[in-house]
Amino acid sequence: MSTISSTDVQVLDNFIGGRWVTARTTEFFDVHNPAIGDVIGRTPLSTSSDVDAAVQAAATAFPAWRDTPVNQRAQVLYKLKAQMEARFDELARIVTTEHGKTLDEARGSVRRGIECVEVACGAPSLMQGTGLEDIAAGIDCHVVRQPLGVVAAIAPFNFPAMVPMWFMPFAIATGNTFVLKPSEQVPLSQRKMMELLQKSDLPSGVVNLVNGGREVVDAICDHPDIRAVSFVGSTPVAKHVYQRATHAGKRVQALGGAKNFVVVMPDADLERSIGVITESFYGCAGERCLAGSMLVPIGEAHRDTRDRMVAAAKALKVGDGTQPGIGMGPVISAKHRDRVVSYIEKGVAEGAKLLVDGRQTRVADRPNGYFLGPTVFDEVSPRMTIGHDEIFGPVASICPVKTLEEAIALMKSHPNANATSIFTSSGKAAREFARHADASMVGVNIGVAAPMAYFPFGGAKDSFFGDLKAHGRDGIEFYTDKKVTISRWF
Ligand code: NAD
Repeated sequence: MSTISSTDVQVLDNFIGGRWVTARTTEFFDVHNPAIGDVIGRTPLSTSSDVDAAVQAAATAFPAWRDTPVNQRAQVLYKLKAQMEARFDELARIVTTEHGKTLDEARGSVRRGIECVEVACGAPSLMQGTGLEDIAAGIDCHVVRQPLGVVAAIAPFNFPAMVPMWFMPFAIATGNTFVLKPSEQVPLSQRKMMELLQKSDLPSGVVNLVNGGREVVDAICDHPDIRAVSFVGSTPVAKHVYQRATHAGKRVQALGGAKNFVVVMPDADLERSIGVITESFYGCAGERCLAGSMLVPIGEAHRDTRDRMVAAAKALKVGDGTQPGIGMGPVISAKHRDRVVSYIEKGVAEGAKLLVDGRQTRVADRPNGYFLGPTVFDEVSPRMTIGHDEIFGPVASICPVKTLEEAIALMKSHPNANATSIFTSSGKAAREFARHADASMVGVNIGVAAPMAYFPFGGAKDSFFGDLKAHGRDGIEFYTDKKVTISRWF
């Protein structure tokens, strides 16, 4: 594998008003291929003046885009879908190169992104209002949904192609114009997406992209001409964005971090379930907001669950996600690997039983990659750091309990409530669990309870700040205001 010399590394531009524009900054963030360790791009850390330029372009484009009939707006999205299908493998490869997840995982995420575009193509139906004649003699009332204006989204590193698609197609299908800030760690997928939008006959200024970090985020929160902000990332930043942007009078949906509990009842069909349980913990190297983190076997399920988890972790092949047969790629960066390693060290220091130690994993042909093997701890308590914090890496913490009630109480004691799963053959247990879980995405014999694009996506408690979740009907609702007209004709 060749190393790109620093002079070959491309500095990314912003996409503003239909053109690629150099950011007004002298600061850059190095983008790495996590499997190799090479620098593959430089993200400009844009400034508030770059955000302002993007917002102005979006505001200029808004009146004509809003006046474009909704079925014609949908035609752009049909073209975008065709472009994404035609470049499907290329998009997946970019995701793997900048993020590290395996090509299969990358393909799955691009497919999910395309599904969002497909659902947003239904805007002519989804965006409809309601009406009633004769609310009084000769008086009619009707409700229409109207776009808000300029809206913005801020994305995390873990799904570079997919997460922006939770927002952009819904925002523009409903007639808004859009400003996106991708994660500075993974800006390359969205650069490709802007190229595909250009080929989809999207008018200039309807979608804009500003690369950067916290200065861009804060400028988006503060900008007086942005009407709504969608955020996905860690809980502290989600809370910050929610508070700052609502304080500036904006509508906000801020999806935060997670600590997901996977409960295994003694009557679970483990033979058929262990594959999806393992995938929940180690898929995308544990860097999913829906990843299992706490494995909670009940009663006699403990021994079998633990032994199967250990065997599965040991069997997982770690390596470069572009290579065939690899089950788990690297984590996003050297810094993040160090962070996950420090959690493993804390687990050991605080008395958890380390059954499989991912720190020992080496990938011979990728000596500079940010690899970490699957790790299994047993006898974890919620009072331990690893039993409480979001690790966001391939670490499974087994926390055995005696009853379903105890498992539910354990789960409810945690401030995060994004997703959770139960494995059982009992309809009654599954019903109790789903009914009492605080998390808003619940899996029953499902490892990763990810709602499809036509359902709402988002958690509860410290995993979500706002009212309306991402995509589905909530997405349409979030990006529109309802106007009621009451009329009488003499
Ligand atoms: P992050 O919070 O570090 O970054 C998210 C975005 O916020 C990035 O665009 C980043 O540039 C920006 N940012 C970072 N620090 C900031 C600060 N101090 N001020 C202003 N902006 C800042 O998150 P991440 O590490 O990129 O992503 C991982 C996190 O995202 C995990 O906690 C994961 O659970 C969460 N996540 C949640 C969901 C969900 O649906 N709830 C989905 C995906 C990821």
